[in-house]
Amino acid sequence: MNLEQVDILYDREQVMARVKELAQEITKDYADKNLLVVGILKGAFIFMADLVREIDLPLEIDFMDVSSYGVSTVSSGEVRIIKDLDYSIRDKDVLIVEDIVDTGLTLQYIKEILAKRGPRSIGICCLLDKPSRRKAAINPEYVGFAIPDEFIVGYGLDYAEQYRHYPAVCILKPSIYEK
Ligand code: 5GP
Repeated sequence: MNLEQVDILYDREQVMARVKELAQEITKDYADKNLLVVGILKGAFIFMADLVREIDLPLEIDFMDVSSYGVSTVSSGEVRIIKDLDYSIRDKDVLIVEDIVDTGLTLQYIKEILAKRGPRSIGICCLLDKPSRRKAAINPEYVGFAIPDEFIVGYGLDYAEQYRHYPAVCILKPSIYEK
């Protein structure tokens, strides 16, 4: 990690401890359900991988890719499906796994699309939540950390496709994106 570019917000140990707690709650809540965990690419890939390995239930996984911010740090409010799910979600208890909920517009759109496909339920688990920035009525059932309005990278999250591999949840120093 290049500490001239980022400040660590939560290190890997803190993140893993919280991921385990979330997985325990999910394990309790989804016992006797038909759990399908849907990861939103690419940001959720590391969180998803850690989370599902701590969920002690039978489950299926699938992925969806939607357009995000591109190289800007400001939401355009426009969301486009780049890769849809591979399988039907009819009668499944869908748990959407997202890296971060900011305005909530992305998840609102994804939820609307998935709701039309006949799932038994749709829940949301996000690693990070910026509640101060919300524009859509999205309230995730499971939140890793509520955070202030900073631009986050690492643990799957990128800036212009960089930093996803950093093991910690980091704040990108504004000097990097305000150039
Ligand atoms: P929303 O539609 O809730 O405004 O935005 C959700 C998406 O925006 C996230 O899945 C993520 O791709 C991107 N995003 C929002 N805040 C941040 C952030 O602080 N860092 C990064 N890397 N992406 C963010």
